[in-house]
Amino acid sequence: MAMKLIALSDLRKSYNLGQPSQAEVLHGLTLQVQRGEFVALMGPSGSGKSTLLNILGLLEPCTAGSYRLGGEEVSGLDDAELTLRRRATLGFVFQFHHLLPAFTALENVTLPALMSEGRVSAQHLQHARDLLAEVGLAEAEHKRPAELSGGMQQRVAIARAVVLNPPLVLADEPTGNLDQTASNEVFALLRRLHAERGITFVVVTHDARLAARCDRLLELVDGRLARDERALGG
Ligand code: ADP
Ligand code: MG
Repeated sequence: MAMKLIALSDLRKSYNLGQPSQAEVLHGLTLQVQRGEFVALMGPSGSGKSTLLNILGLLEPCTAGSYRLGGEEVSGLDDAELTLRRRATLGFVFQFHHLLPAFTALENVTLPALMSEGRVSAQHLQHARDLLAEVGLAEAEHKRPAELSGGMQQRVAIARAVVLNPPLVLADEPTGNLDQTASNEVFALLRRLHAERGITFVVVTHDARLAARCDRLLELVDGRLARDERALGG
């Protein structure tokens, strides 16, 4: 098993704005993330954090350069191949939970299994229940998102992100919409999943206090890597 989970080499991203001049927002990123790292990604608004996360998550293609995920070059894959890699490798947590409002917490957590296999087996259902208990929401499994606090909604979203045991979870400002207490809880949960399951995390955050509790800090400024520091708080 390759130790390098992510390897970017001179990765570039432009948005075609319909003019001859293309707007390049990532200007040649070269970096690696090892399996098991817990990485914070910081940077001013507009610096390219979400763009980078979307490329890492195979939601958007890069324009040039190389992206190797788990040792495999993924920048040239077609949509069907990307979808398979996404299901096998990735979990996502966003700033706004993106839970389906008409579904219960439990149904939301079983959704990835439904999408990936077309059905929810008894085993998947039990696993989803166990996970909800693990994130402290055993009592809430039949509640709909609107009946839960912001922090609880985000914990459901995190359970959903890890339910298929992805090696890599990408989180884009997962605490951006939460107060400090809920932020701390959500962040502690991410750290616990990292410690207990060995999941690799890349977490975009504006909160320097939370970033200081990561193993490594990457900072983007204007689409370039301005900082890469290891072994902060842990
Ligand atoms: P961040 O997440 O750090 O705030 P983004 O990755 O969202 O930054 O955006 C980086 C730059 O790319 C910004 O200048 C933004 O306007 C631009 N951008 C992002 N998405 C698109 C898009 N779909 N089309 C055109 N420009 C975009
Ligand atoms: Mg963003």
